[in-house]
Amino acid sequence: MRLQDKVCLITGAGSGIGKAMALRFAREGATVVIADQDGQAAEAVCALVKQNGGRAQPIEADVTVALEVQAMVRATVDTFGSLDVLVNQAGIIQVGDIIDLDEQEWDRVVAVNLKGVYLACKYGLRAMLAQGGGVIINTASISGLVGIPKQPAYCASKGGVIALTRALAVDYADRNIRVNCIAPGPIDTPWTENVLRAPGDPASEYRWIVMTQPLKRLGTPDEVAAAAAYLASDDAAYITGAVLTIDGGMTAR
Ligand code: NAP
Repeated sequence: MRLQDKVCLITGAGSGIGKAMALRFAREGATVVIADQDGQAAEAVCALVKQNGGRAQPIEADVTVALEVQAMVRATVDTFGSLDVLVNQAGIIQVGDIIDLDEQEWDRVVAVNLKGVYLACKYGLRAMLAQGGGVIINTASISGLVGIPKQPAYCASKGGVIALTRALAVDYADRNIRVNCIAPGPIDTPWTENVLRAPGDPASEYRWIVMTQPLKRLGTPDEVAAAAAYLASDDAAYITGAVLTIDGGMTAR
């Protein structure tokens, strides 16, 4: 129960890793605000958390829209009195060569993966400053640390998330706010299915990457959620500005 009485807002929590985090954080005692652009998915995860005895609230919000992000943070604080932990989890991927990537596709990936994190941090930090502290966990990827084939916009956006995390950790350490990021490797979610189903080279290269990593398997959403729960908790009180890889050893060599 490391997150007892903590109010945790998780974006992109209607699916995959964010959904696993919502369930894990609730099991650790948190009240979880489940945000997603897909309101029905957020409601379904909320119902699941409640079925398991947890406290949760769904909210529909697109992280690329400042007004929606602002409203999401305001609703969290108005309903539950604080925002203790913000997890920026919403993300999208675009697979293909940069030559074939059109400008709108680039803009959308950067808007969701990087601008979305900026907006949620901007409004989330204001709430945390007002209450005297908090924790932010951003979701990067190993694609922000090493070059993964045919993911140019995704790699660039996740590299940006890592840099933003470090910048905010430095800026807010003296205000009792820790900012860290997780960098998952290939995790078994609906998303990964989409990447593996992509036509041509990307799919086979991605399969090769999975099979040649030290642990030789996909990670599970629960394994990522466990790492995030640790960073969210006081067990990680001396950790800020860190990039925690959860990748089966993929980036170890
Ligand atoms: P997922 O199952 O597709 O879940 C992502 C969720 O975010 C979906 O519910 C999606 O809604 C939502 N979302 C997308 N755009 C949004 C927006 N603009 N505003 C609010 N919500 C939005 O993916 P996942 O595998 O759990 O991945 C989650 C995060 O982990 C992403 O940031 C991803 O980069 C990162 N990650 C994943 C892996 C992996 O292998 N799975 C590896 C490294 C990092 P829709 O379904 O409507 O699009």
